[in-house]
Amino acid sequence: MSDNSKVHDVVILGSGPAGLTAAIYTSRANLAPVVVEGLAAGGQLMNTTDVENYPGFPDGIMGPEMMELFKKQAEKFGTTFVAGDADEVDLSSRPFTVKAGDEELRCRALIVSTGASPRYLGVTGEQEYAGKGVSYCATCDGFFFREKPIVVVGGGDSAVEEALFLSRYGTKVTLIHRRDELRASKIMADRAKSNEKIEFAWDSVVEEVLGDGQKVSGIRVKNVKTGETSEIECAGFFVAIGHIPNTKIFEGKLEMNDEGYLEVEEGTTHTKIPGVFASGDVHDHVYRQAVTASGEGCKAAIDCERWLESQGH
Ligand code: NAP
Repeated sequence: MSDNSKVHDVVILGSGPAGLTAAIYTSRANLAPVVVEGLAAGGQLMNTTDVENYPGFPDGIMGPEMMELFKKQAEKFGTTFVAGDADEVDLSSRPFTVKAGDEELRCRALIVSTGASPRYLGVTGEQEYAGKGVSYCATCDGFFFREKPIVVVGGGDSAVEEALFLSRYGTKVTLIHRRDELRASKIMADRAKSNEKIEFAWDSVVEEVLGDGQKVSGIRVKNVKTGETSEIECAGFFVAIGHIPNTKIFEGKLEMNDEGYLEVEEGTTHTKIPGVFASGDVHDHVYRQAVTASGEGCKAAIDCERWLESQGH
């Protein structure tokens, strides 16, 4: 356990690409950051197989391996790590306090990179086949399903956008929605409806992801109006029913939009509380890529460094 009376220059919450990039930068600036890793240490990339779009890895790299390298690089410059989730933060006065299990960390600056979690369907086979055909990111994994049938579930802009993107790869894309009307904006819905490769399964819920133990072979759906069940063959099954930003502990403490994403001053990573910075998917619900999260972690570290300097540290 660390010394509770010590005031750290910077504590970073989260160990995905944003948090660990902030750690690399702040540790190289001699700020000896402490990273509270979170229960899902490594973030969303831990559920990904090959990452082929992160520059610098022409042969691709496995998501977990990449996060291990990020961590190693942060450790090399003096980052220390606390396992588990941050349970509570007190941002009402400085130094700020972060409680994480038995640890109570005090810090001059805080970088919040707690990310977002895809909303899961919670059906049989979903977890078993994660990374083996079940995916939460078309940009990341669409390429693996070239010339194969694909299913997308969801009815919002994300699902439609994923279906449109995946129609470039798959032989066909079936969009499954639990109602008979899309939630997505009209322009996106029209685009999907006029796309010859996209078919719709309305009023349908997924009951099970099917496979041979190694990879996805299809899904079983139930029509909620007729009660009929049927199977749809697919190699890729994309769940796009929204994301949930990991911001629960900041409710009432940091500014958020209606969906719970943290607000920052435009073009920066500054939140409304001086000394508290936000980077990565915890505030960016548009790009959501490892490389953009990393870029934001770098920005947060630089904003943090400059702010600490302005405070005479
Ligand atoms: P969303 O708008 O909340 O839509 C989620 C969709 O998933 C809804 O259609 C919902 O069905 C369905 N759903 C939720 N839980 C489900 C469950 N357990 N089983 C089956 N279906 C379920 O989320 P989103 O599409 O990720 O979009 C989030 C925000 O980002 C929105 O404001 C969206 O406009 C924006 N966005 C914009 C763009 C763009 O403009 N290019 C792209 C992506 C996202 P119901 O409709 O029945 O509730």
